[in-house]
Amino acid sequence: MSRHRNVRGYNYDEDFEDDDMYGQSVEDDYCISPFIYSLVLIFLFVCVWTGRLYSCLDQMRAVLGDSIPDSTLTQAALKYDCDPHRALDFILTEENTNAHTPPARTNSQPDRVEAEVVPKVARMTVSGKKQTMGFDVRSVEENGIVAPSVRRGPSPEVTAAPTTETPSKPSAVNEDSTAPTPTRPTGKSKQQLNIHAELEKRQGGKPLLNLVVIGHVDAGKSTLMGHLLYLLGNVNKRTMHKYEQESKKAGKASFAYAWVLDETGEERNRGVTMDVGMTKFETDSKVITLMDAPGHKDFIPNMITGAAQADVAVLVVDASRGEFEAGFEAGGQTREHGLLVRSLGVTQLAVAVNKMDQVNWQQERFQEIVSKLGHFLKQAGFKDSDVFYIPTSGLSGENLTTRSEVADLTAWYTGPCLLEQIDAFKPPQRSVEKPFRLCVSDVFKDQGSGFCVTGKIEAGFIQTGDKVLAMPPNETCTVKGITLHDEALDWAAAGDHVSLTVTGMDIIKINVGCIFCDPKEPIRACTRFRARILLFNIEVPITQGFPVLLHYQTVSEPATIRKLVSVLHKSSGEVLKKKPKCLSKGQNAVVEIQTQRPVALELYKDYKELGRFIISSLLHLCCHFGKCLLVLSWKPFSTTEHTKKKCEKKN
Ligand code: GDP
Repeated sequence: MSRHRNVRGYNYDEDFEDDDMYGQSVEDDYCISPFIYSLVLIFLFVCVWTGRLYSCLDQMRAVLGDSIPDSTLTQAALKYDCDPHRALDFILTEENTNAHTPPARTNSQPDRVEAEVVPKVARMTVSGKKQTMGFDVRSVEENGIVAPSVRRGPSPEVTAAPTTETPSKPSAVNEDSTAPTPTRPTGKSKQQLNIHAELEKRQGGKPLLNLVVIGHVDAGKSTLMGHLLYLLGNVNKRTMHKYEQESKKAGKASFAYAWVLDETGEERNRGVTMDVGMTKFETDSKVITLMDAPGHKDFIPNMITGAAQADVAVLVVDASRGEFEAGFEAGGQTREHGLLVRSLGVTQLAVAVNKMDQVNWQQERFQEIVSKLGHFLKQAGFKDSDVFYIPTSGLSGENLTTRSEVADLTAWYTGPCLLEQIDAFKPPQRSVEKPFRLCVSDVFKDQGSGFCVTGKIEAGFIQTGDKVLAMPPNETCTVKGITLHDEALDWAAAGDHVSLTVTGMDIIKINVGCIFCDPKEPIRACTRFRARILLFNIEVPITQGFPVLLHYQTVSEPATIRKLVSVLHKSSGEVLKKKPKCLSKGQNAVVEIQTQRPVALELYKDYKELGRFIISSLLHLCCHFGKCLLVLSWKPFSTTEHTKKKCEKKN
């Protein structure tokens, strides 16, 4: 080790480039004999070659740390002509098959060593600062050697690691990484597109499922999902090794898997997820868009954003004594998250009873948690038959992608592992026949003309070349490109998290939370609407003028309860009291809500997905569920006369 130190950091490539010049001047100026000159050349060659070797060793060391002996590294470097990428691949493959193991178990390491796609985490920001929709896709050079992957999209701060493209699914986008989102000519006109048939064909017939991971802070959400992605082969070994080394150096070795999803420095320093990380993986029968939601109560709005876009959820609870109770009972997030996802339309839930290694895989502890949670989840509106409990360990990897072989567990649990359960979820019915609706979760400028918006298509479908209306600000633009999971497409449909490249509109007009819709059947944007609300845990009764935060799809907007219209019977909906003075815990009521700025809303009866919302008190973090019944006022709010007129006409 120490023998390398004096040469570290030296740029041997520069020496190599100057070599010609140096040789030339020696001969010209001093007329050295050919023999000495040859010796000098040999000496220089050895120096340069040794330099390349050291440089290669340094690069390998940066990834592997000090865990592998110098001799092994040198052998690999020599074998691959000092190419650090190939040498690293060799070492890591060797390491995997030999005794060097990653921190958890190795028995279920994926076979897909060659199919390494580094998941890239799309940040659906409320701040709108960071957005990295898609994946790092490895570019493959002609000779089959893997070049460092290139990052598409606008997130230069994320360093790309070398990856391999999945051979069976060639990506359409990695030829020119610097080009703007490619726009393919639309093969078929909108009328000709048989959307159902196209959806059947797509992804080899695998339906898309949006899955959100929820649970109390520190329950192990990021570790569990990071480890699952690793076992599936979605994170290459080199990247995982790097996370292990870096987290060890930062004194947070146990967070290595969590770093797969917790990408920002602040998230890693604080050890908590703040934004909603998004990535993709496949099961036998589905393509899953995974959203890792923050568990900390400070980031509830971000969590709601993630949950609002989910079809199904994995609720992670910590089985350790005292920890489950902290998350479930004393103001923890387990209950709140369960209620929120159910309110936002999630009906199928897998509960990962995690950190079972901490309680020696005890059946009694598992049963205790199942019975406490089961009772609560039923009250929250989940059917018993739609909730599935799986004992797991995110850290050791037990029961994640393969059924566990731990004797203490198999003695009493023979059910599916987490991946099998995710695969077994029923895909939801999508509203592909309804007019197009997309909720914007991010806006950013890409290279080329126009700009990009990301978001989930809630209804209908879209094709390149289509004109869409943005509400607010009630202006149209043209869709030039559609990208789904970093693949350029001609069309996308309800349920897809896409990135659209649009032109013909000023980027400053678009905000997170606005809705792109079909201009012929536009969504209405309003500042006042009537809604039925269900009050959960409430500390202060709600009175007229009560300030709230309206969480609707990807937006959190300040609002007030403008009028208390009536109190309803919970199940029959019969009016029990008109014009109540206040509303208290557990009540069902009709109220009028006034927002500060216009929000684009649908009626619950027309579009369930776009007619439901959550309101939370500004003072206490208790959330209540609401359904929009009636849009009461919608005003022209655009600055241009032209759009004002358009609004008035429609009104
Ligand atoms: P999150 O806040 O829910 O995302 O939790 P993290 O994934 O950041 O994990 C919090 C801590 O719990 C980390 O130190 C993890 O290493 C640890 N942890 C996560 N899963 C397990 C597990 O199954 N067993 C044990 N013993 N520790 C775990």
